[in-house]
Amino acid sequence: MQTIPVAQGLFTGPSGAPQLLASRCTACANHMFPLQAGCSKCGGASTTTVELGRRGTLWTWTVQSYPPKAPPYAGNVDPATFEPYGVGYIEIDGKLLVESRLTIADPDFLDIGMELELVLEPLYVNENGEQVVTFAFAPVSATEKLSQS
Ligand SMILES: [Zn+2]
Repeated sequence: MQTIPVAQGLFTGPSGAPQLLASRCTACANHMFPLQAGCSKCGGASTTTVELGRRGTLWTWTVQSYPPKAPPYAGNVDPATFEPYGVGYIEIDGKLLVESRLTIADPDFLDIGMELELVLEPLYVNENGEQVVTFAFAPVSATEKLSQS
């Protein structure tokens, strides 16, 4: 099955190790995600696109326990089959906070400050039979276990 990103300009791939794409202000080095044409910090009008590091730390989180409003949400909104998912702000490279889906939704396994790694998750299959993927953050310990097995 062909895999396509949920939107252009969010992350590299979808093949290979994904990296989020951010805007870096050419004047003050402020980093912004998603991509911005201008700087929200200094008002500068010039930014360049940079790839962020794949790991970050969890700054805060919550659990989305009911379907979000669609649109803009593109995933499953059927209350009968909706599966809760975690949402968090992840601090990356000490440069910025990124709001992201988390791969786990169980509060017992979510701790502020825990190390997370970027992964791609299946979101839905579109009308062309393509697997649409979005980005999410997974606990580093879990992804390391997976890569060792
Ligand atoms: Zn700036």
